[in-house]
Amino acid sequence: MAKIHNLGFPRIGANRELKFALEAFWNQQNTKQELLETASLLQQQNLQLHQNLDFAQIGDFSLYDHVLDTSFLFGNVPERFSHSKGDNLENYFQVARGGAQDNCGCNAAAGEMTKWFDTNYHYIVPEFNAKTSFSLHPENLLTQVRLTRSQGFDVKPVIIGPITYLFLGKSTDKTNPLDLLDSLLPQYANLLDILAKNGVEWVQIDEPALVTELSAEWKIAYKYAYQYLYERKVKLLLTTYFGELADNFDLVCKLPVDGVHIDAIRAKEEVYPLANALTHEQILSVGIIDGRNVWKTDLRAALDFLQPLVQSKDKYLWIAPSCSMIHCPVDLGNETTFDPELNSWLAFAVQKLQELNTLGTAINFSEHKVAKELVENQTCITARSASTRSKNTKVRNAIALIQPDWLERSANYQERIKLQKEFLNLPLLPTTTIGSFPQTDEIRQLRTAFKKGDITANEYQQAIKQQIQFCITQQEILGLDVLVHGEAERNDMVEYFGECLEGIATSKFGWVQSYGSRCVKPPIIYGDVLRDKAITVEWTRYAQTLTKKPVKGMLTGPVTILNWSFVRDDQSRADTCKQIALAIRDEVLDLEKAGTDIIQIDEAALREGLPLKRSEWQSYLDWAIEGFKISANSVKDTTQIHTHMCYSEFNDIIQAIAQMDADVITIETSRSDMVLLNAFDEFAYPNDIGPGVYDIHSPNIPDEASIISLIESAAKRIPKERLWINPDCGLKTRKWDEVTPALHIMVAAAKSLRQNT
Ligand code: GLN
Ligand code: ZN
Repeated sequence: MAKIHNLGFPRIGANRELKFALEAFWNQQNTKQELLETASLLQQQNLQLHQNLDFAQIGDFSLYDHVLDTSFLFGNVPERFSHSKGDNLENYFQVARGGAQDNCGCNAAAGEMTKWFDTNYHYIVPEFNAKTSFSLHPENLLTQVRLTRSQGFDVKPVIIGPITYLFLGKSTDKTNPLDLLDSLLPQYANLLDILAKNGVEWVQIDEPALVTELSAEWKIAYKYAYQYLYERKVKLLLTTYFGELADNFDLVCKLPVDGVHIDAIRAKEEVYPLANALTHEQILSVGIIDGRNVWKTDLRAALDFLQPLVQSKDKYLWIAPSCSMIHCPVDLGNETTFDPELNSWLAFAVQKLQELNTLGTAINFSEHKVAKELVENQTCITARSASTRSKNTKVRNAIALIQPDWLERSANYQERIKLQKEFLNLPLLPTTTIGSFPQTDEIRQLRTAFKKGDITANEYQQAIKQQIQFCITQQEILGLDVLVHGEAERNDMVEYFGECLEGIATSKFGWVQSYGSRCVKPPIIYGDVLRDKAITVEWTRYAQTLTKKPVKGMLTGPVTILNWSFVRDDQSRADTCKQIALAIRDEVLDLEKAGTDIIQIDEAALREGLPLKRSEWQSYLDWAIEGFKISANSVKDTTQIHTHMCYSEFNDIIQAIAQMDADVITIETSRSDMVLLNAFDEFAYPNDIGPGVYDIHSPNIPDEASIISLIESAAKRIPKERLWINPDCGLKTRKWDEVTPALHIMVAAAKSLRQNT
């Protein structure tokens, strides 16, 4: 009998119950008690969904972040919080969100946040230094163990493994995190022993760092750590996911663990070799259901793939999703707007658990027992691959007609920028913004009213136009040089384009946790992407009628739309990217025709699409950059292309960025005192740059002197003739009474610098 298990389940709730409970608690609208009740209700609901599995996993639920939970489990709380007077939970949220008083009475900064491997989930980075010590605090975990066992479940705690935990952290002095391994391991050993005492047989120990390229010292650490944890009283299932083990394959096979989980979606080719390399008694857990995407599993293909393993591994075979399902929306059953055909192609977390059950029954009992499910599944799979819905000849013909010269501007940057400067008549150090202005309650209510049908399309358009008018007037008063329409019509920079393009669907409740209480709703790219009508042209054209200053058209780039969506699994990401690129290109050319002389194509997610393994970077960058170039570079020389990226680490991709050849790139730099511009300087990046001069993530109003000093610092690296003045990112999360004074000061700083040159 193969065992059926899950690696993790979404914790936010099908209706984002956890989000609302957390935010109400933080705003003091509900009590700690109420928050904990919501949390335990969600855990109970999740538990019930796991009834037919061989284990109920615990430790996958979290009030904020499972990496932060691990830091608390091992008593690794940054020292600046040690003076906090709050209880444990308050303390936990303080590390997550900042705000505690440190020993000098200042606000202690929240823990830094970064992306969990190549997902869009963000975790709180563990902090290490020479003084870091660990202590074990297993109470929460043990309560869960007892509670879950008392309901008759076999419990499998999920913990992050010691090496991945150290791998994820950052050193605040120069301490090598691996130097802490010796003090961390005894705590892990303790924990495992305590879990054993509480009736736990198996522990899932997550080591996704094993799919990255590890240096020799990390490989040695793996051997050392698992040797240390060898022969505890619990059994360890070493869990790897998000990619192939590649160079770490032999290492994994030699680790003294009781079982290994492998991602059979992304490391399919390694499953059989792993089955052969493990000893017969070692468990092989096969992650056969895609935990990162929304498509229905082809159960027939899965069964055929598993069959030889069922024979060879017998009871030593386990079956699971490829990774934790926190990266999937919760329940397709809640969706009401998908048509039946598209609906039949999809599976969210709840449905994926059902698929797992079906596979389990088919393998362990007989296919007859689930004949109905298997037939239904096969019907959907066959229908999807035969459907004309996902294939559009118009798109495919258009792709075939892409010409190499579309990818390059006709003149080089030096010539172009001269023409543009004359044509646009911009001052030295031109000021602009990144696109969005505050998304006020009024705007949100408008959108809700329109979606509900309470106001007509016409009324909605008029109301949005009023918002645009207001936004243009404000920018005129502020004296900005390049204006924007303000993006009032957009709920989200990717979802909006998802709604407007053919081949992409947007869900109603398909929320996925991004960090803490923040969720995103990625569009679902299910077919060939086509732009059959203009998307932003009317808004931009209207905005331009209101002012003599240039209004910058505002688009989301193909790579960002791709990286922030669920992507079809029946063609390569590169091909999908090219289709989106073509759609954006059409929009760019229509904007240009309508008189838009500056067009910004945001590629906020270009960097985060980089594969986990460096050896795969170049091929990603090749097609990603090509996608941007298709979308942007067919314009006239006088049309100015901007792009925006929400980060500033360009060292390792600067060459690719330069190949994009955008006339202006705006980036985030204000928090790093422009030091991060060095990458551009050292590479001799030729084009214009707008390094953000104030941090829009904070409500603080910057002062003029600090903006001036940032610009001066930037001018040491980039000649001021090539510098633009702008905030770090879009302003949609800010309020008008923060934005107006901040931009006022920004414009004043630019003016004063112009006078002095
Ligand atoms: N144009 C978008 C905005 O201003 C860009 C946001 C982003 O890059 N994250 O909101
Ligand atoms: Zn940004």
